[in-house]
Amino acid sequence: MFKRILIANRGEIAMRILRCCQEMGIETVLACSAEDMDSLPAQFATKRVCIGPPAAAKSYLNPEAVVQAAISFQCEAVHPGYGFLSENADFASLCEEHGILFIGPSSEMIRMMGDKQSARALMKKHGVPVVPGSDGILKDWKEAAEIARKVGYPVLLKATAGGGGRGMRTAYDESEIQSAYESAQAEALSGFGDGSLYLEKLILHPHHIEVQILGDSRGHIVHLGERDCSLQRRNQKLLEEAPARILKPRQREALHRAALRAAKAVHYRSAGTVEFVLDREGNFYFIEMNTRIQVEHPVTEMITGVDLIREQIRIAAGLGLSCRQSDISFSGHAIECRINAENPAKGFAPCPGDISFLHFPAGKGVRVESALYNGSRVSPWYDSMIAKVIVHAPGRLEAIRKMRVALEEMTVEGIDTNLEFLYLLMFNPDYLSGHVDTGFLEKDAEAIIRWGEESRKKA
Ligand code: ADP
Ligand code: ADP
Ligand code: MG
Repeated sequence: MFKRILIANRGEIAMRILRCCQEMGIETVLACSAEDMDSLPAQFATKRVCIGPPAAAKSYLNPEAVVQAAISFQCEAVHPGYGFLSENADFASLCEEHGILFIGPSSEMIRMMGDKQSARALMKKHGVPVVPGSDGILKDWKEAAEIARKVGYPVLLKATAGGGGRGMRTAYDESEIQSAYESAQAEALSGFGDGSLYLEKLILHPHHIEVQILGDSRGHIVHLGERDCSLQRRNQKLLEEAPARILKPRQREALHRAALRAAKAVHYRSAGTVEFVLDREGNFYFIEMNTRIQVEHPVTEMITGVDLIREQIRIAAGLGLSCRQSDISFSGHAIECRINAENPAKGFAPCPGDISFLHFPAGKGVRVESALYNGSRVSPWYDSMIAKVIVHAPGRLEAIRKMRVALEEMTVEGIDTNLEFLYLLMFNPDYLSGHVDTGFLEKDAEAIIRWGEESRKKA
């Protein structure tokens, strides 16, 4: 096993990886920006090293600085967490060149799956259903219009280099296609330096369902079931749960089989996620594969008992998976809420600042992942997600009740958060029925807030 690992991330995921390393007897070096030198993970790690100024582009997103830190501190491996350099194939190959193990798949696998259009073509070749659409990169908006006419409107123009819900635009009819094409291309160029687009039919009122995969370097690949991540705002997930209530047993099996086929097509190694959209008729289509640990991995850990970070580290060290498919069983229902420093009443505007008082919920089946502490500060430089609250109970309704209690107990003073919004969501009849699709929060966010304000007035 490794003696020392460099963690190239911050916040809750850095804490998650740190704790796991400590349990495994591995020393840790936290590579962080000047802004984060006094953060909880910086205090928790065996050593900390500053890799640059607060701006992520000059620190957390600087491959040379991270590799240099790993070399100077004699780290054998780097854990990239999620976001930042976690899906950067050039960073993974830079690590490979310097003999540092990248805790994740090979740079070649990241490259194959990171280009979303090539991944789509590869999946099609291996019999994984993909959304009807273009067969390659679009030449121009006229070609987009031609294909849209064939597959039928509405359509979605997507950047092949896209991520985080960016570089995507819908067109509901031919009059919208040129502007959708141009604005998707502009966003992709500025965000990812690559304006190449492809086209998919827009699936109406879909559920976002994804399957967790683990593969080792000995060729074993297993799935750990699915998650329903349909509650999204601007294509960013807010709440995730497992299992997906909407799936019937046969559909679930077919989905797991398709995800395994996808992972086997690239001989996948490490933890990864195969994402699908499920339409109203119960058809599912591959949309992309994320070649990293995901924010929502704890819900899968809660229902399977598998430690996904530990598996990632073991796999990178060349060890086999600690579980075969037949060893993996599923128990109960888990839900995760992402707590963000943002104000739902002000259009979810981020609101960083100093935490004057903090209390986390606890109890049976309640888990909190966070790097906050009393008196800490939420930096304006990074993502506004400050904590994740995860609950696990025998059934979905019991899990929802547990989440209500946990959110009510949690106290964050000094900054605005979406805690109350999430709490009210836990009483929403549509959410309770389990029938909310990916458009639900766009439509109903305002109604949820209004309803909340009314009930507060009555109380
Ligand atoms: P998941 O699919 O695991 O839910 P998201 O797409 O929400 O992941 O992204 C994971 C996190 O990483 C989010 O908080 C997002 O803001 C952040 N992120 C994504 N891409 C980048 C990037 N290039 N640089 C920095 N942070 C990023
Ligand atoms: P990203 O790389 O930004 O995560 P995805 O391809 O995973 O992009 O899409 C992000 C979200 O957009 C999905 O979770 C889903 O809600 C929605 N989406 C993507 N493709 C389609 C589609 N063809 N039809 C309907 N919704 C889609
Ligand atoms: Mg995605």
